[in-house]
Formats: sequence, structure tokens, C-alpha cells
Amino acid sequence: MTARKLQFAGTLFDGKSARKHPVDIALTPREIILKKPGHEPIHWFYGNLRWAAKTTSPFHIEHGDINNECLETLVVEDPDFYESVSKIAPDNFSDTGRQTEINWKIYAAGILILIFSAYVFIKTVPSFLADRMVDKIPVEWEVTLGQSILKMLPLEQKPDQQVLAVLQETVDLLERSVEGKQPYDLQVYIWPGKTVNALALPGGPIVVFEGLLNQAESPEELAGVIAHEIQHILLRHSTRGILRNMAQSMLLALFIGDVNAVMEGVANLAGELETLGLSRDMEAEADQKGMELILTANIDPRGMMRIFEKLMEVEPENSPKEKTTETDMELFSYFSTHPSSQSRLAKLEKQMEPHKNKTWAPLFPNLNWNEIKPEN
Ligand SMILES: [Zn+2]
Repeated sequence: MTARKLQFAGTLFDGKSARKHPVDIALTPREIILKKPGHEPIHWFYGNLRWAAKTTSPFHIEHGDINNECLETLVVEDPDFYESVSKIAPDNFSDTGRQTEINWKIYAAGILILIFSAYVFIKTVPSFLADRMVDKIPVEWEVTLGQSILKMLPLEQKPDQQVLAVLQETVDLLERSVEGKQPYDLQVYIWPGKTVNALALPGGPIVVFEGLLNQAESPEELAGVIAHEIQHILLRHSTRGILRNMAQSMLLALFIGDVNAVMEGVANLAGELETLGLSRDMEAEADQKGMELILTANIDPRGMMRIFEKLMEVEPENSPKEKTTETDMELFSYFSTHPSSQSRLAKLEKQMEPHKNKTWAPLFPNLNWNEIKPEN
């Protein structure tokens, strides 16, 4: 049996400079004593020490508490040092110092802060960037984006030409009332089925659902919805919404290093097609500018009110509970995805107020819309 070695030579780094201080080391059960030539001995209690796992050679010991900015480090080259110090030090101090527990808590808190920051970053930065970028995007890009989405939609391949003509004429009429020259080619498309909805795609396409055509009882009502959608396009709302979504999933992919997240983002976007990531503010803006457009075009604004009211009536929240099935939700998604309808209606009403006593000519005097509109 050999006597345990308790004296070693090491090098001390004070944490303030790169200078090496050669020291003599004495191990005791309570502390490690360091002796610098010509100085008082330094006492390091085990409670203030940290060291890495046994594989480390040369052996490093850090001294100081976490709040202490400059940790002192003792480096010992002697391979016997580890065994000696781990035998003589208190039991609970075996592999890594007592400070490890505190470290673990600090790391955990750090990771939580990191996750939280990443979350905030992913939630806010894409919107911020998208809003900055959207004005710099060329119209051609928007058109390409809108057309590629359009190609994925199950659109009516043989739309009723008469219905389509009414819709397109309404669009053209509203377009002529837009102030200044606008760069988009506004084209109407019809989505078959009972869903009551309408979409504005980036760069010009306006998609009106058959269910909405059926709900509308006059061309003025259709004009109200179309004016709203036209404003989404002119104000680049859809483009911005899509950019936000894309940027969000791309950032997410960067953070978690997973390309699938990007694909998931694209899939989510398809699910959110009804809203295209439009925010409440965008909806309110499209309402207001839409109503302005209706008034400038000399179209009876009560049509816009009527269709919005009607869409509200069929809104799932207002219908009896047992009738609110998932299909209902799907059918009347226009207002369920266009939130806070009551306040929106009130705002439109207020905007209409100054024109209350005006007499309005019918939009298409020789057309009986209810005769040609699709049946549900
Ligand atoms: Zn909208």
C-alpha cells in the first residue's frame, strides 16, 4: 500500500490576466492550500470549487462563486492528482463540484429564457420584416405568387358566363373608381360548393365562392364583398399575410434546423387559405377602404351592409348550439375568419351615415340577379 500523495505542483490563473502563477498544492480533507513563493498561503474550501469529469487531463479546478466574474483556475498536470483529490475531498464532492447543482439551475433558466426569446422572435420578427419588405416586392412577384396559389385551388372550370360577367363588370366598375393608376389585373374566379366566402390572392385574383353568390340577393351586395376583397389586393394584405407566414416557418426551421417545419408552414398556409394570414387591422382597413370605393363608384352602400349583416346572421356564434356543426363552420367561414363583426358593421354604418338621404340608381338596372344566381 502506497501512501496517498498530498503534495502537488500546479499553475494558477487569476482570471484577470493570462499570467501563470506556479504554486505548490497541499490537499487536506477541508481545503486545498496553495502556496505561491513569497506569499501567504491561499485556502480554497471545497464548497467554492468546481472541477470537470475525470477524463480531463491536465486537471482543471475552478474557484469562486457564479457571481464572481473572474474565476480562478488551477491547472495540475500530475495524473495522480485527480485520484488524490477525489479521495480526500468530502464524499458529496466526488465527480463535479457542489456548484454543479446551482449551475444546472442556471442553465435550465438560461434555456427557458432562450426558448422564450426564440418564441417572441419568431412571433414578432417575421411580421416586422414582412411589413418592411412588402412595399419593396415587385408587382410581378405578387402576380407569380397569386397565380401559383390560384393553380392549386379547385376552381369552377366552366363557370356560368352570365354570373361571371356580372362579377367581372362589378370589379371593373369598382376599379375605375380607384384613385390613381393601380398595377393589378383584377380577375374574378368562382369556387364551387356551398361555402360562403371570398378570397383575395396576391397580385389580382379575386375568388368568390358559389355559396356567397347564392347568399347575395343583389349585385350591390356582391359589390360590397368585392370592394372589400379588391382593397385586400391593392393594400397588399394577402401578400403581407403570406410573407408573415412564410418568414415565420423559415425562422422556425432555422431555429430547430428542420426543413419539415417549412413544409409544415406551407401546409398551414393552405389551411389558412380563407384568411391568408390577414389580421384584424387588415380586415378593418379593407372594410373602410372598401366602403369608400363603393361610395366613390356611386353604388348603393346598403348592399354592402346587407350582405355583411346576412353573413353575420349565419355566423355560427349566432345560430342555436345544436345547429352549429362543423359543416356550418365551414359553410359560413367568411365571418368566422373575419372577426369582430358587430363592431365592423357599426363602423360601416357610421361611414354610410352622411350619404343616408341620397337616392341610388341600381347597379345593373336590367338584370335580375336572383334569376341567374347559382342555386344552393
Ligand atoms: Zn377580408
